[in-house]
Amino acid sequence: MVEAIGVRKSFGLLEVLKGINLTIHRGEVVCLLGPSGSGKSTFLRCVNHLERMSAGRIAVEGKLIGYHERNGRLHEMNSRELASQRRDIGMVFQRFNLFAHQDVLTNITQAPMLIRGETRETAVARARDLLRLVELEGREGAYPLQLSGGQQQRVAIARALAMRPKLMLFDEPTSALDPELVGEVLAVMRKLASEGMTMLVVTHELAFAREVADRVIFMDQGVVVEEGPAREVIDTPKHERTKAFLRRMH
Ligand code: ADP
Ligand code: MG
Repeated sequence: MVEAIGVRKSFGLLEVLKGINLTIHRGEVVCLLGPSGSGKSTFLRCVNHLERMSAGRIAVEGKLIGYHERNGRLHEMNSRELASQRRDIGMVFQRFNLFAHQDVLTNITQAPMLIRGETRETAVARARDLLRLVELEGREGAYPLQLSGGQQQRVAIARALAMRPKLMLFDEPTSALDPELVGEVLAVMRKLASEGMTMLVVTHELAFAREVADRVIFMDQGVVVEEGPAREVIDTPKHERTKAFLRRMH
Protein backbone atom coordinates (compact mmCIF):
# COMPACT_ATOMS: atom_id res chain seq x y z
CA MET A 1 0.00 0.00 0.00
CA VAL A 2 2.81 2.39 0.90
CA GLU A 3 6.42 2.20 -0.12
CA ALA A 4 8.87 4.90 0.90
CA ILE A 5 12.43 4.68 -0.33
CA GLY A 6 15.29 6.87 0.84
CA VAL A 7 13.12 9.78 1.89
CA ARG A 8 15.17 12.82 2.80
CA LYS A 9 14.00 16.25 3.81
CA SER A 10 15.96 19.33 4.75
CA PHE A 11 14.77 22.69 5.93
CA GLY A 12 17.65 24.93 4.95
CA LEU A 13 20.74 23.41 6.53
CA LEU A 14 18.75 21.24 8.92
CA GLU A 15 18.34 17.70 7.62
CA VAL A 16 15.21 16.41 9.29
CA LEU A 17 14.75 13.10 7.42
CA LYS A 18 17.93 11.24 6.57
CA GLY A 19 16.79 8.47 4.29
CA ILE A 20 13.62 6.83 5.54
CA ASN A 21 12.61 3.45 4.10
CA LEU A 22 9.22 2.13 5.02
CA THR A 23 6.71 -0.35 3.64
CA ILE A 24 3.12 -0.66 4.78
CA HIS A 25 0.95 -3.49 3.54
CA ARG A 26 -2.75 -3.27 2.88
CA GLY A 27 -4.74 -3.50 6.10
CA GLU A 28 -1.67 -3.03 8.25
CA VAL A 29 -1.54 -0.64 11.21
CA VAL A 30 1.87 0.88 11.74
CA CYS A 31 2.66 3.15 14.67
CA LEU A 32 5.47 5.64 14.38
CA LEU A 33 7.09 6.43 17.71
CA GLY A 34 9.90 8.79 18.52
CA PRO A 35 10.93 11.82 20.51
CA SER A 36 9.70 15.27 19.65
CA GLY A 37 11.63 16.74 16.74
CA SER A 38 12.63 13.37 15.29
CA GLY A 39 10.81 14.05 12.00
CA LYS A 40 7.61 12.05 12.43
CA SER A 41 5.22 14.80 11.33
CA THR A 42 7.50 15.78 8.46
CA PHE A 43 7.51 12.21 7.21
CA LEU A 44 3.72 11.96 7.43
CA ARG A 45 3.42 15.22 5.52
CA CYS A 46 5.71 13.85 2.82
CA VAL A 47 3.38 10.87 2.37
CA ASN A 48 0.68 13.14 0.95
CA HIS A 49 3.09 15.68 -0.46
CA LEU A 50 2.13 18.46 1.93
CA GLU A 51 5.89 18.63 2.26
CA ARG A 52 8.16 18.26 -0.74
CA MET A 53 10.88 15.66 -0.22
CA SER A 54 14.49 16.64 -0.87
CA ALA A 55 15.25 13.14 -2.16
CA GLY A 56 13.69 9.72 -2.31
CA ARG A 57 10.30 8.57 -3.41
CA ILE A 58 7.02 7.46 -1.94
CA ALA A 59 4.43 5.36 -3.73
CA VAL A 60 0.92 4.58 -2.58
CA GLU A 61 -0.67 1.62 -4.31
CA GLY A 62 2.19 1.66 -6.77
CA LYS A 63 1.55 5.28 -7.75
CA LEU A 64 4.27 7.81 -7.11
CA ILE A 65 3.20 10.57 -4.73
CA GLY A 66 3.55 14.12 -6.00
CA TYR A 67 5.33 13.29 -9.25
CA HIS A 68 4.90 11.82 -12.69
CA GLU A 69 7.67 9.79 -14.12
CA ARG A 70 8.26 10.49 -17.81
CA ASN A 71 11.28 9.25 -19.72
CA GLY A 72 12.98 8.42 -16.45
CA ARG A 73 12.50 11.96 -15.13
CA LEU A 74 10.28 13.16 -12.31
CA HIS A 75 7.87 16.01 -12.92
CA GLU A 76 5.97 17.50 -10.03
CA MET A 77 2.20 17.23 -10.27
CA ASN A 78 0.10 20.32 -10.61
CA SER A 79 -2.25 21.29 -7.81
CA ARG A 80 -5.27 19.67 -9.41
CA GLU A 81 -3.44 16.36 -9.79
CA LEU A 82 -2.17 16.59 -6.22
CA ALA A 83 -5.66 17.25 -4.90
CA SER A 84 -6.95 14.25 -6.79
CA GLN A 85 -4.19 12.06 -5.40
CA ARG A 86 -4.77 13.30 -1.84
CA ARG A 87 -8.40 12.20 -1.93
CA ASP A 88 -7.25 8.67 -1.31
CA ILE A 89 -5.25 9.59 1.78
CA GLY A 90 -7.09 10.71 4.90
CA MET A 91 -5.25 12.73 7.48
CA VAL A 92 -6.14 13.53 11.07
CA PHE A 93 -4.00 16.00 12.96
CA GLN A 94 -3.38 16.74 16.61
CA ARG A 95 -5.62 19.80 16.50
CA PHE A 96 -9.11 19.10 15.30
CA ASN A 97 -9.31 21.27 12.24
CA LEU A 98 -13.02 21.26 11.70
CA PHE A 99 -14.68 24.23 10.05
CA ALA A 100 -15.97 26.12 13.09
CA HIS A 101 -18.77 27.89 11.25
CA GLN A 102 -20.24 24.66 9.82
CA ASP A 103 -22.27 22.04 11.62
CA VAL A 104 -21.11 18.44 11.87
CA LEU A 105 -23.09 17.22 8.88
CA THR A 106 -21.74 19.97 6.62
CA ASN A 107 -18.20 19.33 7.84
CA ILE A 108 -18.53 15.70 6.79
CA THR A 109 -20.51 16.05 3.55
CA GLN A 110 -18.89 19.08 1.95
CA ALA A 111 -15.79 17.48 0.45
CA PRO A 112 -17.54 14.33 -0.85
CA MET A 113 -20.06 16.57 -2.63
CA LEU A 114 -17.63 19.20 -3.92
CA ILE A 115 -14.63 17.04 -4.69
CA ARG A 116 -16.03 13.56 -5.30
CA GLY A 117 -19.21 14.85 -6.90
CA GLU A 118 -21.47 12.80 -4.65
CA THR A 119 -25.14 13.72 -4.48
CA ARG A 120 -26.40 15.22 -1.24
CA GLU A 121 -28.41 12.04 -0.56
CA THR A 122 -25.36 9.80 -0.91
CA ALA A 123 -23.14 12.10 1.12
CA VAL A 124 -25.68 12.49 3.91
CA ALA A 125 -26.38 8.76 4.10
CA ARG A 126 -22.67 8.05 4.30
CA ALA A 127 -22.20 10.78 6.94
CA ARG A 128 -24.90 9.18 9.10
CA ASP A 129 -23.17 5.79 8.82
CA LEU A 130 -19.88 7.39 9.78
CA LEU A 131 -21.42 9.24 12.72
CA ARG A 132 -22.67 5.88 13.94
CA LEU A 133 -19.16 4.46 13.53
CA VAL A 134 -17.64 7.25 15.63
CA GLU A 135 -20.53 7.05 18.09
CA LEU A 136 -21.92 10.51 17.44
CA GLU A 137 -25.28 9.50 16.10
CA GLY A 138 -27.76 12.37 16.19
CA ARG A 139 -25.14 15.12 16.46
CA GLU A 140 -25.43 16.19 12.79
CA GLY A 141 -26.61 19.68 13.72
CA ALA A 142 -23.99 20.44 16.38
CA TYR A 143 -21.28 23.03 15.77
CA PRO A 144 -17.67 22.15 16.63
CA LEU A 145 -17.54 24.48 19.63
CA GLN A 146 -20.55 22.73 21.15
CA LEU A 147 -18.59 19.47 21.18
CA SER A 148 -15.83 18.24 23.47
CA GLY A 149 -12.34 17.85 22.07
CA GLY A 150 -12.81 14.09 21.87
CA GLN A 151 -16.07 14.49 19.98
CA GLN A 152 -14.51 17.00 17.61
CA GLN A 153 -11.66 14.64 16.90
CA ARG A 154 -14.14 11.83 16.18
CA VAL A 155 -15.93 14.13 13.73
CA ALA A 156 -12.54 14.86 12.13
CA ILE A 157 -12.04 11.12 11.68
CA ALA A 158 -15.53 10.76 10.18
CA ARG A 159 -14.82 13.66 7.87
CA ALA A 160 -11.61 12.07 6.63
CA LEU A 161 -13.37 8.73 6.12
CA ALA A 162 -16.14 10.38 4.12
CA MET A 163 -13.68 10.69 1.24
CA ARG A 164 -13.31 6.89 1.26
CA PRO A 165 -9.55 6.95 1.68
CA LYS A 166 -7.41 3.88 1.11
CA LEU A 167 -4.93 5.00 3.71
CA MET A 168 -5.34 6.97 6.93
CA LEU A 169 -2.57 9.04 8.44
CA PHE A 170 -2.89 10.11 12.07
CA ASP A 171 -0.52 12.65 13.59
CA GLU A 172 -0.79 12.49 17.38
CA PRO A 173 -4.58 12.49 17.22
CA THR A 174 -4.98 12.36 21.00
CA SER A 175 -2.11 14.58 22.14
CA ALA A 176 -4.21 17.74 22.45
CA LEU A 177 -7.02 16.04 24.36
CA ASP A 178 -7.78 16.03 28.05
CA PRO A 179 -6.75 12.62 29.39
CA GLU A 180 -10.32 11.49 30.01
CA LEU A 181 -11.17 12.00 26.31
CA VAL A 182 -8.27 10.04 24.86
CA GLY A 183 -9.92 6.64 25.20
CA GLU A 184 -12.97 7.44 23.06
CA VAL A 185 -10.79 8.53 20.14
CA LEU A 186 -8.50 5.51 20.45
CA ALA A 187 -11.61 3.31 20.54
CA VAL A 188 -12.70 4.67 17.16
CA MET A 189 -9.21 4.11 15.74
CA ARG A 190 -9.21 0.57 17.12
CA LYS A 191 -12.53 -0.06 15.38
CA LEU A 192 -11.16 1.29 12.09
CA ALA A 193 -8.12 -0.94 12.42
CA SER A 194 -10.28 -4.00 13.02
CA GLU A 195 -12.27 -3.17 9.89
CA GLY A 196 -9.09 -3.47 7.89
CA MET A 197 -8.16 0.17 7.28
CA THR A 198 -4.50 0.72 6.44
CA MET A 199 -3.18 3.17 9.02
CA LEU A 200 0.03 5.01 9.78
CA VAL A 201 -0.24 6.50 13.25
CA VAL A 202 2.14 8.82 15.04
CA THR A 203 1.33 8.43 18.70
CA HIS A 204 2.73 8.43 22.21
CA GLU A 205 0.03 6.02 23.37
CA LEU A 206 2.17 2.96 23.99
CA ALA A 207 -0.66 0.74 25.18
CA PHE A 208 -2.59 1.50 21.99
CA ALA A 209 0.46 0.88 19.81
CA ARG A 210 1.24 -2.38 21.59
CA GLU A 211 -2.29 -3.66 21.28
CA VAL A 212 -3.48 -2.33 17.92
CA ALA A 213 -0.41 -1.88 15.74
CA ASP A 214 0.94 -4.72 13.67
CA ARG A 215 4.26 -3.00 13.52
CA VAL A 216 6.05 -0.24 15.38
CA ILE A 217 8.71 1.99 13.93
CA PHE A 218 10.94 3.95 16.25
CA MET A 219 12.44 7.06 14.73
CA ASP A 220 15.07 9.35 16.19
CA GLN A 221 16.87 12.29 14.61
CA GLY A 222 15.56 11.60 11.14
CA VAL A 223 16.38 7.90 10.92
CA VAL A 224 14.52 4.69 11.63
CA VAL A 225 16.37 3.27 14.61
CA GLU A 226 14.33 0.14 15.10
CA GLU A 227 11.24 -1.51 13.73
CA GLY A 228 9.41 -4.76 14.24
CA PRO A 229 6.26 -6.38 15.58
CA ALA A 230 4.62 -3.96 18.03
CA ARG A 231 4.99 -6.08 21.15
CA GLU A 232 8.54 -7.04 20.37
CA VAL A 233 9.70 -3.43 19.95
CA ILE A 234 7.77 -2.11 22.94
CA ASP A 235 8.44 -4.98 25.37
CA THR A 236 11.96 -5.91 24.32
CA PRO A 237 13.55 -3.02 22.43
CA LYS A 238 17.01 -3.81 21.07
CA HIS A 239 18.56 -0.41 20.57
CA GLU A 240 19.74 1.80 23.38
CA ARG A 241 17.92 4.86 22.00
CA THR A 242 14.63 2.94 21.83
CA LYS A 243 15.13 1.69 25.38
CA ALA A 244 15.83 5.19 26.66
CA PHE A 245 12.79 6.61 24.89
CA LEU A 246 10.46 3.90 26.18
CA ARG A 247 11.82 4.31 29.72
CA ARG A 248 10.94 8.01 29.60
CA MET A 249 7.43 7.17 28.40
CA HIS A 250 6.52 4.77 31.23
P1 ADP B 1 8.17 15.42 15.22
O1 ADP B 1 6.85 15.37 14.55
O2 ADP B 1 8.85 14.10 15.32
O3 ADP B 1 8.12 16.10 16.54
P2 ADP B 1 8.81 17.30 13.11
O4 ADP B 1 8.73 16.53 11.85
O5 ADP B 1 7.66 18.17 13.45
O6 ADP B 1 9.14 16.29 14.31
O7 ADP B 1 10.08 18.20 13.09
C1 ADP B 1 11.38 17.71 12.86
C2 ADP B 1 12.34 18.87 12.82
O8 ADP B 1 12.08 19.66 11.68
C3 ADP B 1 12.27 19.80 14.01
O9 ADP B 1 13.56 20.20 14.33
C4 ADP B 1 11.46 20.97 13.48
O10 ADP B 1 11.79 22.14 14.15
C5 ADP B 1 11.88 21.01 12.03
N1 ADP B 1 10.85 21.56 11.14
C6 ADP B 1 9.64 21.04 10.91
N2 ADP B 1 8.93 21.77 10.02
C7 ADP B 1 9.76 22.78 9.66
C8 ADP B 1 9.63 23.90 8.76
N3 ADP B 1 8.52 24.08 8.03
N4 ADP B 1 10.68 24.74 8.66
C9 ADP B 1 11.80 24.54 9.38
N5 ADP B 1 11.99 23.53 10.23
C10 ADP B 1 10.99 22.66 10.39
MG1 MG C 1 4.94 15.94 15.23
